[in-house]
Amino acid sequence: MARRSAQSEDNALDRLPKAPLTRESLAQTLALARYVRPYRARFFGGLTTLFISASLGLAFPLLAGSLIDAALHPAGATLPVLGAVSLDRIALLLVAAVTVQALASFNSALSFNRVGQRALADLRRDCYARLIALPMAFFGQRRVGELTSRVSTDVAQIEGALIDALPQMCRQVVFLIGGVTMIALTSGRLTAIMLGTLPVLIAAAVFFGRRLRRFSRETQDQLAATNTIVEETLQAIASVKAFANEAFELGRYERANARVLAAALSAARWRAVFVAFFIVALFGGIVIVLWFGAGLLRAGAITPGELTRFVLYTTFVAGAMGQSAELFSQIQKTVGATQRVRELLRETVEIAPDAPVAATDLPERLRGEVAFEGVSFHYPSRPEVAVLRDVSLVARPGERIALVGPSGAGKSTLTALLLRFYEPDGGRLSFDGREAKEYPLAWLRGQLAIVPQDVLLFGGTIAENIAYGRPGASDAAIRDAARLANADEFISAFPEGYGTLVGDRGIKLSGGQRQRVAIARAILKNPAVLILDEATSSLDSESERLVQVALDRLMKDRTSFIVAHRLATIRTADRIAVLEAGRIVEIGTHAELSALPAGLYRKLSELQFGQSEG
Ligand code: ATP
Repeated sequence: MARRSAQSEDNALDRLPKAPLTRESLAQTLALARYVRPYRARFFGGLTTLFISASLGLAFPLLAGSLIDAALHPAGATLPVLGAVSLDRIALLLVAAVTVQALASFNSALSFNRVGQRALADLRRDCYARLIALPMAFFGQRRVGELTSRVSTDVAQIEGALIDALPQMCRQVVFLIGGVTMIALTSGRLTAIMLGTLPVLIAAAVFFGRRLRRFSRETQDQLAATNTIVEETLQAIASVKAFANEAFELGRYERANARVLAAALSAARWRAVFVAFFIVALFGGIVIVLWFGAGLLRAGAITPGELTRFVLYTTFVAGAMGQSAELFSQIQKTVGATQRVRELLRETVEIAPDAPVAATDLPERLRGEVAFEGVSFHYPSRPEVAVLRDVSLVARPGERIALVGPSGAGKSTLTALLLRFYEPDGGRLSFDGREAKEYPLAWLRGQLAIVPQDVLLFGGTIAENIAYGRPGASDAAIRDAARLANADEFISAFPEGYGTLVGDRGIKLSGGQRQRVAIARAILKNPAVLILDEATSSLDSESERLVQVALDRLMKDRTSFIVAHRLATIRTADRIAVLEAGRIVEIGTHAELSALPAGLYRKLSELQFGQSEG
């Protein structure tokens, strides 16, 4: 399981688009360096030990070559600075170099990981903080699943770059520059031969690399398509089974799977050719170098130790160059990832209030007068559709107003404006005579509570779920709220009572029970204005009665807006506003509206209750 998810993360990383390296894109990437800044001492410490370890790595071929020369000369080999050194001393030097290198590598790996993980934790936190502070309009325009997976793959890519690619790159640069320098110092002629074979190798690597990448991208895309099928069907597994469409879905999967296979096999062919070519090129190069080297050795132009050194340095340089293509593509992906993360971090968070009432000027609590005056609205994602048109409605403190109307009339939208999820395009929304946007957003939302249609409980205990209405509430307060919400009885009947876990790891509450938990939550919050989105599905009559009693208690002395689907439950509302296509077409009590001969309310009730009650 863990392997699967690690693999799918790899696939996601493979599919990340790359960004061209421009001055601007690099500047953006560097802007994220501020996450490393708090840990810069450790970062530079890690960098220093990394250079120490890489330089000692470079000393290895030198010492190994000298070891061979020392074996052939009783006086030992000549080393720079140290002069003539005996075989045993060289061996000791090698052991010392390896030991120090190991310690330095340990330190640099640990430092880069520590800095990287800390910086990443900060970055993840900021991304999350920004994400939840974005306005609702943002979420309406993007698929949230896509957004979260994007952020997590992008952050994973940055993590890889910081912890692996960056140290790798520093190490390869040291090997490349140091290796070429040492080779040149060893033998100019051999260096010329080696460097001569390079362009061929590089051209071939680029050619094959492009082709291979195209096919593996194709494979990844096809694989993603098959995964989408799996996700879709598992999410809607009940529908798949109810329609007995298993064979249909399997067919869909098989076709997608065949495309994955075809793409993977093409990629495999190119990869095999590439491997074969690489072996020919790499070993061919070494053979040529060895051949010339052996000739030079016979002629006495170089020592056996120098030839060994040369071959070892050649592999270092070749390795560094082989990795550079991969590292370059890593950098491009990281630049792309940082751009997207930066975009998210730059999104504007919910509207800062234009002229917020000074905190001292805020009342303890709203009285609860709510006024819509000529409000019009369309959703930002669909500017061409007017959802509310010239809506005017004044609710007096403590009044119960029911919102009814056909599906899509704009009832829920009206409540979304109350919560200031969106701003009206025209007209004014005010609370206690002051325009809504004059209040600080969080304060205003603190005065409102919603009991939604579909109550989603968070994973955790029942007590925690109720306390969501007022984090930090005492156990006694939670219990009181539950009692008022008619929830205490069923909660206490569970063996673990208020400590019962709900959600995936715990029990599943029935619809009526969930609603009562939501009511308890709202009671605990003690809002001045209440929004009830009535559940469309009806409960059995006993649950219905328990919920209704709880709601009546909750609505007492609060201004309440009730989005009603079943008209039977709102007869006692003080006023009923009937919406149609974004306008309030009728408003009045049940009796008044029922008396209108050709009224929409009357028509709707007749539809719901049949002739007998109409
Ligand atoms: P119902 O009784 O079916 O819940 P409603 O009266 O509550 O309907 P709203 O949910 O307010 O209706 O929707 C009003 C209109 O706005 C509909 O045409 C709907 O398609 C559109 N709409 C709702 N939410 C959004 C959104 N987030 N983005 C774009 N359009 C939306």
